[in-house]
Amino acid sequence: MADVITTTQLLCRQCAAALVVEQGAKYATCDFCGTVNFLDKSEAVLHYAVRPTIDATQAAAALRRWMAGNQTEKGLDTAAQIETQQFQLFPMWLARTEEKGQEVVHLKPAAALSIVELGNLRVPAADLVPFDDALDADAIRPTVPVTAVRAWLAENEGIAAGAIREISLVHVPLYQFKYRYKDNAYTALVDAATGQVFAAIYPEKFELPYVSIGGFGCLAYFLAALIPLITFYVVKSSVGIAIGALIYLGVAVALAVPIFIAAASVSRKY
Ligand SMILES: [Zn+2]
Repeated sequence: MADVITTTQLLCRQCAAALVVEQGAKYATCDFCGTVNFLDKSEAVLHYAVRPTIDATQAAAALRRWMAGNQTEKGLDTAAQIETQQFQLFPMWLARTEEKGQEVVHLKPAAALSIVELGNLRVPAADLVPFDDALDADAIRPTVPVTAVRAWLAENEGIAAGAIREISLVHVPLYQFKYRYKDNAYTALVDAATGQVFAAIYPEKFELPYVSIGGFGCLAYFLAALIPLITFYVVKSSVGIAIGALIYLGVAVALAVPIFIAAASVSRKY
């Protein structure tokens, strides 16, 4: 990973052993000599990984639950064919800044996103562990340099360089699924720390029939409600309103039948 982004190893000022630095910590005690080191992270780029809490089977189950949910087409969970499932670590930049005495955490993708919604990834600080080189095989290389993150913080968030406490590279564990549904290929990601599902394009529930039935229903009832007004003008007395109201009741009941049938047929179909 050193070819693109250089991450820092902070060393003990007493014995030069590598320090295990907790995310967000200001001090670290050396495991070897016990010296308490103040951590100057203003120039350091520490590297962490989020510990996965779900395995491959649980990730697949989370995807099926999402497929069975309200956003997706009915029957997707049973009809979708999962073709591949791959574990990977996606790089994110995590910046801690101080704004009006409050610590604020900013997250930015450190590589190109296949799924835009990943920008909403949450990084649970409690689950961060120092990155281990053994994880390298699954890790996607960061392509966004730390200078771009500093520029983004300054230009888009209005944060002065002096307000940045630390910037860390965090690899987030994800399961990437490729699945097939009705002859189309789709990709979905499952966050291996939270079980959250991310998908940009998926078989969405078709909302239009519900909307148009609802719209037609509203219009029909609005027009029916005008009947007493019309009969009042025709008969030219309050008897006209009573007649109109009776006609209105009949029409309202009659209208409910086709609207109900249409709604029922739509919910069977989608
Ligand atoms: Zn030491």
